[in-house]
Amino acid sequence: MSKSVALIGYPLKHSISPAFQQAAFDHEGLDVRYEKWETPEAELPATVDRLRHASTLGANVTIPCKEKVIPLLDELSDTAARIGAVNTVVNRGGSLMGFNTDVEGFVTSLQEDADYRLRNRKVVLLGAGGVARAVVFALLNEEVTSVTVFNRSVERGRALVRSFARSAGRIPLAAPPWTELETSSALQDCDLLVNCTSLGMRFSAMEEESPLSAGQIPKDALVYDLVYNPEETPFLKEAKKAGAETLGGLSMLVHQGAASFELWTGTKAPVDIMLRSAREALR
Ligand code: NDP
Repeated sequence: MSKSVALIGYPLKHSISPAFQQAAFDHEGLDVRYEKWETPEAELPATVDRLRHASTLGANVTIPCKEKVIPLLDELSDTAARIGAVNTVVNRGGSLMGFNTDVEGFVTSLQEDADYRLRNRKVVLLGAGGVARAVVFALLNEEVTSVTVFNRSVERGRALVRSFARSAGRIPLAAPPWTELETSSALQDCDLLVNCTSLGMRFSAMEEESPLSAGQIPKDALVYDLVYNPEETPFLKEAKKAGAETLGGLSMLVHQGAASFELWTGTKAPVDIMLRSAREALR
């Protein structure tokens, strides 16, 4: 029987996951179709129920459904439960289990594409939304030295700090107001600066915007923009002008997708094929 994997979210028009996931299934000779199931919020319970069918291996879940899907599932991995967001669902004989592979995508992309280890690093994050939660979880797990989160809405930043306070233990985790960003010593002293906001994302009203200009970016930091479309974002252009090392979000996108692929199929993901297809889809 031919199988399917769904992509659930709304809207899905610009997603490139179908391109690189289908390339991976085809490359491995698996009879699986990766399908867009565009789902407005009100239809989410019915859509998730369809995943229980024997012909469905599972799903990727994206904006705005990553949190809302949780009560509709039967079980959660520890990581997904602690982050409070699911990006991958696996159908195990009609029972639905939720995972979060953004954590693996983030850590693997740094290791594989920047040869970067997180232990003992001082990290600054811009943004405190869904992906920032996965990044904070990863950073604390990897025993960084400190994490400072700047978010436009200060309350959301503080809420993130509260929910990870216990797992942070002795690692300082703070969320000063966004207005203090430019003068912050945490920014000037950081080893890794990660953009977790959607500033600079193509097809949005903010596509021309960078969270910081070249003069504000510490040149000795690794600057990582999780925005993957375009590949060279306004923030990465500014970071290059500042003389900093940079990493774009496409690598994380592909590595989180590879981890999802392995959960659905039990087969090692062809990461190089996926990366090549993702690049072609962006063009
Ligand atoms: P959310 O909607 O959950 O969070 C958006 C974040 O961006 C919030 O922190 C929000 O701040 C901030 N923001 C939005 N507009 C502005 C602005 N004008 N000025 C300052 N801050 C702003 O989205 P996600 O966390 O899920 O995703 C964020 C980005 O990360 C997206 O571009 C997405 O494509 C990318 N991403 C990349 C992945 C990858 O694999 N490379 C994986 C997942 C996401 P506030 O709270 O104040 O609204």
